Amino acid sequence: MKATMMDYPLTLPHLLERAGKLFRTREIVSRMPDRSVHRYTYGDFYRRARLLANALKKAGLKRGDRVGTLMWNHYVHLEAYFGVPVAGGVVHTLNLRLYPEEIAYMIRHAKDRFLIIDNILLPFFAKFRNMVNVEKIIVVPLTDSPVPSEYENYEQLLGQTDGCFSYPELNENEAAGMSYTSGTTGKPKGVVYTHRALVLHSFALALRDSLGISEEDSVMPVVPMFHVNAWGLPFACTMMGARQVLPGPHLDPASLLELMEKEKVTVGAGVPTVWLGVLQELTQNPDRWNLLPDVNVLIGGSAAPESLIRGLKRHNLHVLHGWGMTETTPVATISRLRPHLKKISPDKQFAYQAKQGVPVPFVELRIVNENGEGPWDGRTMGELQVRGPWIAGDYYNRPDCGNSFTEDGWLRTGDVACIDPDGYVKITDRTKDLIKSGGEWISSVDLENALMDHSSVAEAAVIAMPHPKWQERPLAIVVLKEGEKTSPEELRKFLASKFSKWWLPDQFVFADEIPRTSAGKFSKAKLRERYVRSDDQ
Ligand code: ADP
Repeated sequence: MKATMMDYPLTLPHLLERAGKLFRTREIVSRMPDRSVHRYTYGDFYRRARLLANALKKAGLKRGDRVGTLMWNHYVHLEAYFGVPVAGGVVHTLNLRLYPEEIAYMIRHAKDRFLIIDNILLPFFAKFRNMVNVEKIIVVPLTDSPVPSEYENYEQLLGQTDGCFSYPELNENEAAGMSYTSGTTGKPKGVVYTHRALVLHSFALALRDSLGISEEDSVMPVVPMFHVNAWGLPFACTMMGARQVLPGPHLDPASLLELMEKEKVTVGAGVPTVWLGVLQELTQNPDRWNLLPDVNVLIGGSAAPESLIRGLKRHNLHVLHGWGMTETTPVATISRLRPHLKKISPDKQFAYQAKQGVPVPFVELRIVNENGEGPWDGRTMGELQVRGPWIAGDYYNRPDCGNSFTEDGWLRTGDVACIDPDGYVKITDRTKDLIKSGGEWISSVDLENALMDHSSVAEAAVIAMPHPKWQERPLAIVVLKEGEKTSPEELRKFLASKFSKWWLPDQFVFADEIPRTSAGKFSKAKLRERYVRSDDQ
């Protein structure tokens, strides 16, 4: 039977139009490089995003052309998030924490035709300017320093353009955005997002049982807009009319807390290392900050330790733990307590929140090991595989990456996990981070989280050391809280109450810091370089 519904595309111009009509007076707040706070409204954003779209069109942007962005989280980046795709282009966010050679590779591989760059990042851009061939470079004057004459000035470009812009007729399956995985192994791989994926993902974030983004919220994505679309928040917030609070380049705990307090933030989002810093500041100066009573904090990118979830709760920050990856746009699971779990003891509730959560609607998950698809019994481990309307089915121009997808059309995530009967996923490790000792697996994540429960430990990471007899044994790298002392014996005793003896790390190293990846996660690769002799690798 033929249905009687309209064939209406799920595309980003609808979100922009909606914001322009409904949320004209709602604010978008950005912290600028000089720490001042820039404020404007969705009305201003609507007008300027369309001016950008028109300017790009006049400059020759064709359907599907890539426009790279090298920018922090602020209102101009948001304008690019919409101005580029509504003109038919593809916004390609570049991770400014990568090495110049890596960024240059991404620009060349994606064939970016235009680039939009924060002026404060020009010295960094100079390091790879000669490695890329881009037609037009547009510089955003965030500070007073003049824009060099060889570049286009973003503000002048908008000033010279009129608002008579009409959207091209976009198909929902056209490309709208693009990100590269940071490539912890091999060359970075490009993921291309459709309009449809970004729109449906926005709906998923807005659901009450997931993040529940609403017009009433003030949302602060600490997760950079160059890291998997700031987890889709800029799109979801614009769809719902939530106030956006963009922290710019100032990401230290005090700056973030100041913004949370002054701008009355109701939802924050970032990787665990960001919130570990925030918790330390809140613990050291409990009376300094006056946050709203019920703030939700979305934590993902790597496992949120239970101690972090408990610690933030003491300050009325409620953690929603999520799992995802560049290939999953990224949100695939969110850990909210399901109603029947609200009756169990608080201790058990925290344990559920420390899991990565249940799949959001339309994300399908399965666990696959050598015996085939595993049951959801909370014990059976295997590779987590996923499919859905915002999950990548391929990489951009990488025919060599075919084995990242199964023959029956699922994404192989490279994460090892189990799923419990309530549908909560628990990520045990990345395949490459699991420690193989005497033919059995040890989860580095479980050991790290347990160590971070110790009152003297600020941060901990566990990696595999080659071992002549057992193949690999765990090595723990521990950063102590300021003024705290402890010993390997004490830490081993502390862990012994939670794990079998053969899980306990053979060695503990005390360090001043744990190196971070470009996304702010603990970098196991750098730790391995530092602590494992190269001839052992
Ligand atoms: P990369 O870390 O390689 O740059 P992504 O940012 O796409 O790339 O990271 C995706 C990976 O991050 C996942 O495959 C998983 O290993 C890890 N990850 C994401 N969220 C979580 C989480 N909540 N708990 C544990 N691991 C997570």
